[in-house]
Amino acid sequence: MAHITIPAAEAILDKEFTVLNKGFVRLVDYMGGDERIVQSARVSYGTGTKTVREDKGLINYLMKNLHTSPFEQVILTFHAKMPIFVARQWIRHRTARLNEISGRYSVMADEFYIPAKEDIRHQSTTNKQGRGEEVPPQLQKKVIEVLKRDQVSVYANYEEMIKDDVARELARINLPLSLYTQWYWQIDLHNLFHFLRLRMDHHAQKEIQVYGEVMAMMAKAVAPMAYEAFEEHILYGVRFSRGEVTAIREILAGKENPLKGKALEEFNQKITSKQDGS
Ligand SMILES: Cc1cc2nc3c(=O)[nH]c(=O)nc-3n(C[C@H](O)[C@H](O)[C@H](O)COP(=O)(O)OP(=O)(O)OC[C@H]3O[C@@H](n4cnc5c(N)ncnc54)[C@H](O)[C@@H]3O)c2cc1C
Repeated sequence: MAHITIPAAEAILDKEFTVLNKGFVRLVDYMGGDERIVQSARVSYGTGTKTVREDKGLINYLMKNLHTSPFEQVILTFHAKMPIFVARQWIRHRTARLNEISGRYSVMADEFYIPAKEDIRHQSTTNKQGRGEEVPPQLQKKVIEVLKRDQVSVYANYEEMIKDDVARELARINLPLSLYTQWYWQIDLHNLFHFLRLRMDHHAQKEIQVYGEVMAMMAKAVAPMAYEAFEEHILYGVRFSRGEVTAIREILAGKENPLKGKALEEFNQKITSKQDGS
């Protein structure tokens, strides 16, 4: 079957979904969907039309058994605008194709990220790479004022250098990580699921998680059966180590859990995690 059109994807195509204070994600285009996944999985058998139930079963089987290549037949192109510190995390995903706005060619817009008050938190005491308790309102106010003051000052200096006809590629070098950038980003569904698993996880920084959530909604519109299988086997699945499997066996046999300390803490977290979509 040639070009596949999916009504739920058509309904959101080209619409900007706001993320953070000034960012967005827009689904520019897509190619394929659930149908394409099953067609490409069945190509070697040349079988005829199957029922929706059989298609769903096949997609579930492919995801469960890591037969990933049929998911690579589905492509999504996004236009996204995000702070540079989010882009730096995002760009680590090497399996996408992208084009970013050039600060050598264009004058960068006066657009900066300011976190929402409730997102301003103390350093976590348990996670060196994360946030912990909420800060008091006076500190929230102070942080926002400091961020804004620096942003206004650095952008005024940038504008001055642009007015003095300094090369844009030099004038921009002091612009901060909170400045917004934007890009076109194209990826196949298999690698998008990999990105979403890592970046929607609670270990990822909140500011990239929120982009992941919007892109997950878009992926679900394009390929709902594949997305459901991704939720079932990958996103809300849990991977146990050999030691943890031994512990499960011991517990099921009515014995004491052999795990101790941090290992026990991590095991309990896996078992009791609320990240199960329910
Ligand atoms: C919570 C979190 C914290 C992180 N903290 C840090 C940090 O402190 N410092 C830091 O530097 N990074 C950090 N990262 C980035 C992380 O190490 C990965 O670079 C990033 O998540 C991309 O993952 P990936 O390589 O699997 O993805 P992709 O680049 O999208 O690749 C997908 C898969 O394709 C394969 N692949 C792609 N390219 C190659 C290649 N050239 N050779 C072989 N296989 C390839 C791999 O199997 C890979 O898993 C962090 C990521 C997360 C999610």
